[in-house]
Amino acid sequence: MSDTIFGKIIRREIPATIVYEDDDILGFKDIAPQAPVHVLFIPKHDAIPTLDDARPEHAQLLGRLMLAAADYARREGLAQDGYRVVMNCREHAGQTVFHVHLHLLAGAPLGHFGA
Ligand code: AMP
Repeated sequence: MSDTIFGKIIRREIPATIVYEDDDILGFKDIAPQAPVHVLFIPKHDAIPTLDDARPEHAQLLGRLMLAAADYARREGLAQDGYRVVMNCREHAGQTVFHVHLHLLAGAPLGHFGA
């Protein structure tokens, strides 16, 4: 299990606003939201540090992260107006927590992004 702050959230050692959970994935509100809706989706049992560490055996889990975000967005009525999913990998992308996670951003028009 991950030793990052997300590992502590999975183990319920620190609080988080959990909005999605299934056998393999946890979704919770980002503590510093960058949009009206900002939810993080993380694997519960396989703390891959970065996307660069993912291997073919992680393909199903990574796909399920995407589908969990899409399911949540649909359930919350966010799908029609649209949303963004983002996965940051290491320093240049601003990754700060080294337990792979998918950001879901929604709830307002989102600015363009990039360098
Ligand atoms: P990244 O920059 O892609 O590594 O994203 C890490 C995200 O985790 C940031 O958006 C942080 O605001 C968020 N974060 C850090 N600590 C917590 C926490 N305890 N609960 C919820 N979100 C957190």
